[in-house]
Amino acid sequence: MSRIVYVNGQYLPEGEAKVSVFDRGFLMADAVYEVTSVLGGKLVDFDGHTARLRRSLSELDMPSPATDEELLAIHRELVARNDLSDGMIYLQVTRGAPADRDFVYPDASVPPTLVLFTQSKPGLADSPLARTGMTVVSIPDQRWARRDIKTVQLLYPSMGKMMAKAQGADDAWMIEDGVITEGTSNNAYIVKGDTIVTRDLGPQILSGITRAAVLRFAREAQMKVEERPFTLDEALAADEAFITSATTFVMPVVRIDGRDIGRGKPGAIAARLREIYIEESRKSAI
Ligand code: PMP
Repeated sequence: MSRIVYVNGQYLPEGEAKVSVFDRGFLMADAVYEVTSVLGGKLVDFDGHTARLRRSLSELDMPSPATDEELLAIHRELVARNDLSDGMIYLQVTRGAPADRDFVYPDASVPPTLVLFTQSKPGLADSPLARTGMTVVSIPDQRWARRDIKTVQLLYPSMGKMMAKAQGADDAWMIEDGVITEGTSNNAYIVKGDTIVTRDLGPQILSGITRAAVLRFAREAQMKVEERPFTLDEALAADEAFITSATTFVMPVVRIDGRDIGRGKPGAIAARLREIYIEESRKSAI
């Protein structure tokens, strides 16, 4: 069955959906995006994702293609039309397609482009990787300096995943000025003793929606949380490590640069946070 996608007001079979070759998303990566998880046909952390989308749009002076209510209706329609149970919805807004390629932003008569599509991932919350844990390698962070804006400039993160793959690892953690920023598509954490450490928010990292929820649950469960930069050496000496993102939830990291973290097995704190996050997300999904 062909997937139904959304493009600028229309629901179309994926093969019929079209965007102009002059679209600035295509020509200049002048576009922002969001990925929302779907569990049991319901949207996880939807309000967080729309709030971050609003912020990304406003930081780039990009016009908004729809209200939050309209976006929610489109998400739900795509879930229904594609009979999606577990998976994700990808949303992208671009600055639209002016008549010619030009570095200057187009005027207000050019509408933004809005595209959404689903990806089905049956059993999303029961990933086998959560039981074994994932491995990462460290690489230099060579992205632009506004990583707090969720743009589609994903070439370096994509290169990072390939560098990891070349070394037989699952992902890469990026290092800048001697400290870890984040994973290629996730936020990075270590645990030392009873303290969870993760990079503080700023232009250097994306403010993860999963990060915000997980830190809230950790604090509610009386766990200690420190939001500050940490080094690769600290990570190698940690008792546990893990990542968070909308599609992986909380995922343990058991090896960094070929060296075991703790006992080289998923840690108790990461496992507990994963359990809480998935349970609470199922409850609050809309
Ligand atoms: N950092 C980066 C660079 C990311 O691409 C992502 C995933 N989009 C995250 C962090 C995690 O954010 P979220 O929890 O909102 O998925």
